[in-house]
Amino acid sequence: MTAKDGIPNSEQDQAWADFLAPTRRSLVAGAAGALGLVAATSPASAAKPEPKLGDPGFRATVPPRDVGKSPWGYATASEPAVRPASVRPEGGFGLPDKPRPYTDIHSYHAHIYFDEDSYPKAERLRQWVVERFPVELGNWNLEPRGPHVTPSFYFGFTNDLLPVIVPWLQLNSLGLTILLHPNSDDPRADHLYYTLWVNRSQPVNAYGMKRPGEPGAPPIEKIYPNIRPTVELES
Ligand code: ZN
Repeated sequence: MTAKDGIPNSEQDQAWADFLAPTRRSLVAGAAGALGLVAATSPASAAKPEPKLGDPGFRATVPPRDVGKSPWGYATASEPAVRPASVRPEGGFGLPDKPRPYTDIHSYHAHIYFDEDSYPKAERLRQWVVERFPVELGNWNLEPRGPHVTPSFYFGFTNDLLPVIVPWLQLNSLGLTILLHPNSDDPRADHLYYTLWVNRSQPVNAYGMKRPGEPGAPPIEKIYPNIRPTVELES
C-alpha cells in the first residue's frame, strides 16, 4: 500500500521508505565504504585510500538517522496556507483611510540589547544615559523578558526628549541594537509596527499581546522618571 492511493503507509512501509531514500542509500554506501565492506564485492578498491574532503567520492560523516514516527503525523504537506493575523493596529489587511494623529503617542521606551560579549558596551551606555537624561530606568534583564528575546535594559522617556534622544543614541549606540518604540493604546503594534531601530533590528515576540479593547489588554504605559541627571549634555 502506498501514500499515492490516499491510504497512509504502514509504519513498516514508512521505515523501509525512509531507509531506502536516495540520501539514505548514499549514506549507507558511504558508511559501507568507510568500514571497508565494499571490499567484499570489489577487491580492487580495498587498497584505495579513503576519499578526502573535495574528492568526488567524499561523504561527510553524519550521525545515524533517528528511527521512529514523526509526532507531526504524515499529512502536514496537505495543510492549507492560512494568512496570519495582521500586526497592524486595526487588525485588517487594507490600507487605512486616514493617518493616526501623532498625539496618540503618550511616551517612549528605548530597549538596549546586549549579550555576553557586548555587555561592557551596555554598561557604558547605561552610565552615560543615567548621567544625562531624566528617564525612567529599568533593571538589568539578563534573560528574555516580556517580548524581548535577548538580555536587555530599558529606559522610558517623555515625548519632549525624543528630538534629543534619537540623535544622541544614533551617535552613542556603541554598535548595540536598540529598539525605540512608542507607547500608544496598542502595545502589540508599538512593538511590531511602530518601531524605530538603531543599528540592526532583531526579533520581538509581541504577537501574543492583546489589542486595545480585548479582554486582558494592558493600560497605556506610563513614565515616572527615576533618574536625576548629573552631567550637562554635550552640544
Ligand atoms: Zn518597552
